[in-house]
Amino acid sequence: MKDFSYPSDRTILVTGAAGFLGSHLCKRLLASNENIEILGIDNLYSGTRFNIAGLHSHPRFEFMRHDVTSPLFVEVDEIYNLACPASPVHYQHDPVQTLKTSVHGAINMLGLAKRTGSKILQASTSEVYGDPKVSPQREDYWGNVNPIGIRSCYDEGKRAAETLFFDYRRQHALDTRVMRIFNTYGPHMHPNDGRVVSNFIIQALKDDPITIYGDGSQTRSFCYVDDLISGMIGLMNCAHAGSEPVNIGNPNEITVRQLADIVLELTGSRSKIDFLELPGDDPLQRRPDISKAKDLFNWEPAVELKTGLSKTINYFDKLLQAKPLVLEAAE
Ligand code: NAD
Ligand code: UDP
Repeated sequence: MKDFSYPSDRTILVTGAAGFLGSHLCKRLLASNENIEILGIDNLYSGTRFNIAGLHSHPRFEFMRHDVTSPLFVEVDEIYNLACPASPVHYQHDPVQTLKTSVHGAINMLGLAKRTGSKILQASTSEVYGDPKVSPQREDYWGNVNPIGIRSCYDEGKRAAETLFFDYRRQHALDTRVMRIFNTYGPHMHPNDGRVVSNFIIQALKDDPITIYGDGSQTRSFCYVDDLISGMIGLMNCAHAGSEPVNIGNPNEITVRQLADIVLELTGSRSKIDFLELPGDDPLQRRPDISKAKDLFNWEPAVELKTGLSKTINYFDKLLQAKPLVLEAAE
């Protein structure tokens, strides 16, 4: 799929710019058109300056340290709202702040969009489906979410944010997009955020035990970051995509055990496998139905799992060689 070309000068706000997805989005937007400027904001809660180190000298990129739970007064034309810790380890570390980030952050960014007349996209999640009783998950499935469990700060925060986006759309005629992102992986994932892909790769590269939670029969569908960013930009620029949420992810569903075996094969690691307790409310299955994204803006993922994993392994290998002490210290 081709990237959209912006017709005229505009300033695009990216919240969560120093995070995994935010940093890729900023880079891709800057490369896609020389007439746009990016204002990236982040409170550096789960993102790092390292992810945007290459952008600081870019003449059309500006970084501001800001927390989206506080109002922001800037002049922009378009907003991608990505600010929110995404890994269970990070979002469960301070659950009240996670909920505030989703809800107050959405209110503040929607208020900014209303004042400036900006189009605004929300990075929502497959977690709005909870532990789904149907597979694959279509956008019209309302989900199976525990409102009081350890994942609820994230799941319910994202559900409330979706509600706000659709209420602002109906009540204030805002031009909104809601993107339900399924598990995504690639370079710039935080090495210590505990997500399964980064955990397994780092463990394999260090010949440490691979930590499978439960028996590894739970499934996920992993999308490479480049595909995800194409879907995000495609959704933002699809004129007819605003009235409903849209799934973006890779429908190739595998078990966590299969993922471990593939990572072991690609790294040639001597790691053994440790089976640990399954965390509470861990969804048993997850697979997106992406027919809506296909129909609306002809998007589908192109990167095979082994290709994407090899690129990610290469990234973490270099990171480990450059910063072994940083990774050790955080364990
Ligand atoms: P990430 O943790 O790497 O990035 C999130 C960024 O938001 C970080 O840089 C963090 O410092 C920043 N942030 C957190 N709270 C903030 C606040 N209050 N104010 C300002 N900045 C704040 O996560 P990611 O994987 O890049 O996810 C980006 C978005 O996509 C999130 O909204 C997440 O919920 C959503 N998402 C991601 C995935 C995935 O697999 N990566 C899946 C579903 C949804
Ligand atoms: N997981 C695992 N070992 C790890 C980290 C995660 O087995 O070291 C499992 C986790 O229990 C879940 C799946 O991998 O079933 C995906 O976890 P992740 O935190 O990446 O994302 P989630 O989809 O659960 O939000």
